[in-house]
Amino acid sequence: MPELPDLEAILHNLIPKVKGNCIEAVQVFRPKRVFPTSEEFVAGLVGEVVGEVQRQGKFTLFLLAGGATLSIHLMLHGEMDWVSSSQAPEKSTVAALRFKGDQELRFLDRAGWMRLTYLPPGGLQNYAELRSLGPDPLEAAFTSSYLQKMLQSYPGTVKFVLMEQRLVNGIGNAFSDEILFCARLLPTRKSRDLNAQERDLLAKCIPDTLRWATAQSIQGMSAGIRGEVRSYLRVHGKGGQPCPRCPGKIIRFELEGRGAYFCPRCQH
Ligand SMILES: [Zn+2]
Repeated sequence: MPELPDLEAILHNLIPKVKGNCIEAVQVFRPKRVFPTSEEFVAGLVGEVVGEVQRQGKFTLFLLAGGATLSIHLMLHGEMDWVSSSQAPEKSTVAALRFKGDQELRFLDRAGWMRLTYLPPGGLQNYAELRSLGPDPLEAAFTSSYLQKMLQSYPGTVKFVLMEQRLVNGIGNAFSDEILFCARLLPTRKSRDLNAQERDLLAKCIPDTLRWATAQSIQGMSAGIRGEVRSYLRVHGKGGQPCPRCPGKIIRFELEGRGAYFCPRCQH
């Protein structure tokens, strides 16, 4: 699933392509993934000019010049691609926005969970899905005292606190593993049991890991917007491989139905 660093890298490459450009045509291939209805989605977007493009949690938002918004949630397997309109659409194409020069922004989803939502002018302020999001871990509101409160408020494991979008947005399975590796914490630790030193290191590791990962993802994607770069990760998906920090070996452990990766030697 695309997480904060993946989405930041996608936006880095997507913004120069779409910002200030008019959506000349819209095609919907999978009406069930488009909201509120396929007809309203097309009618609302055609002729609109894309203004600012923002990320909020795992949502990408196109703020349109007329005051409306396009909200994109890629969910588990969604992707965006930037192609010539002459290229035949892939089977998994959900929708396509055509821009000048016959370039298209295509939304693809082999799993069928992506959500593309047209919000009319004023709709963004009342969009319930965004209002329930916790603070962005790269913004000033995410202070170490907030983190402390957040860890105390939840009885579960520290990995699941990091992944809880109501408490902090944009972090999922992959980058929670990377943050915990940085903080030398086992994913199975209870969030309420961390001592002051561990909390301080975690507070530093959250933004440090996400900024490092964003830079790595931008580099790995070159100018593209499709997919996600995972090759640089240190522990997530690296089961059986040597730990990059100590002589230990990374293991995979099933934690509440998700695969957690960590080094049992240098994470405590
Ligand atoms: Zn290690």
